[in-house]
Amino acid sequence: MNLKTDLKALSKKELESFIKEQGLPAFRARQLRHWIYERRAESIDEITEFSKDLREGLSKKAYISTLKLLSRQISADGTEKFLFGLEDGESIESVLIPDKDRLTLCISSQVGCAMKCRFCLTAQLRLRRNLRAHEIVDQVICGGRLIHPRSITNIVFMGMGEPLANFYEAVEALWRMTELMKISKRRITLSTAGIAPKILELAEKAPRVNLAISLNATTDEVRSRLMPINKKYPLRSLLDACRRFPLEPRRRITFEYVMLQGLNDTQDDARRLIRILKGIPSKVNLIPFNPYPGSEYRRPSDEEIERFQKIVLGGNVTALIRKSKGQDILAACGQLKAGYG
Ligand code: SF4
Repeated sequence: MNLKTDLKALSKKELESFIKEQGLPAFRARQLRHWIYERRAESIDEITEFSKDLREGLSKKAYISTLKLLSRQISADGTEKFLFGLEDGESIESVLIPDKDRLTLCISSQVGCAMKCRFCLTAQLRLRRNLRAHEIVDQVICGGRLIHPRSITNIVFMGMGEPLANFYEAVEALWRMTELMKISKRRITLSTAGIAPKILELAEKAPRVNLAISLNATTDEVRSRLMPINKKYPLRSLLDACRRFPLEPRRRITFEYVMLQGLNDTQDDARRLIRILKGIPSKVNLIPFNPYPGSEYRRPSDEEIERFQKIVLGGNVTALIRKSKGQDILAACGQLKAGYG
């Protein structure tokens, strides 16, 4: 067990107290934040702004943690999946998705997930533990280092876990990304399975990043079957929270809709979708299901998906078909299992 203090794990206040306890001036905390989050230093020794004595003295008491890259897989379509090891031996996955001029990093917020969505492989792990804020942020730092000289342009909280079920750490991670790493709020999207009260709390407590809702059904009956969280927060309360979510001008909420043959892909569903999204500035991403070994659902045909899209577009709702990437390396939406079981 490492008895030294992990500087990356400390909040702004905790870092300031730590520096004070060491008898160092307050500006050292600012310098440390700069080196950890902007210069992305992996060790105290890399902080050349500090004298050798200061680096050595500090290294006796503290260190800077980093995720350990356990494996890196590259899909035929260019998607990359990183398996990262955490200090306690757990592991998580992050996925880098190239799309035209974008390089989006999909990050995890928990080890496993407790939400039990029926179409998701991560759900089979159950929740092993919440990630700490620095472990969430470190996926961006390490991912950025691994793909250098390319840079990550967008970040989505759509990997393993439900970020709003790990609310405090997810919000703290968002603050570190926007304030300390200077990543634009417009380039970050948090996706939730629908913990309705936390959506409004997010608007109050976190920087105004983009919001995505994993919707996947247009009736409570089907949604509760697919996503048990719907029994607690049915569509009415979820969509009500979305209606009340304060959006900045010209921003929209993204609704993710994984298309499952014979379950949520009918023409009635398409028409209901238009109806239930009324009054919400929205954009729908239609995601054809990615079957995995043993999955109980099927992907609708291209014609069925296009017919669904046409009806939704006819209702003046933006609807895009998002072909999932990285299927050959199980990196696509709902396929992350971090090598467990
Ligand atoms: S889809 Fe997301 S929220 Fe649902 S079980 Fe999978 S990781 Fe959790």
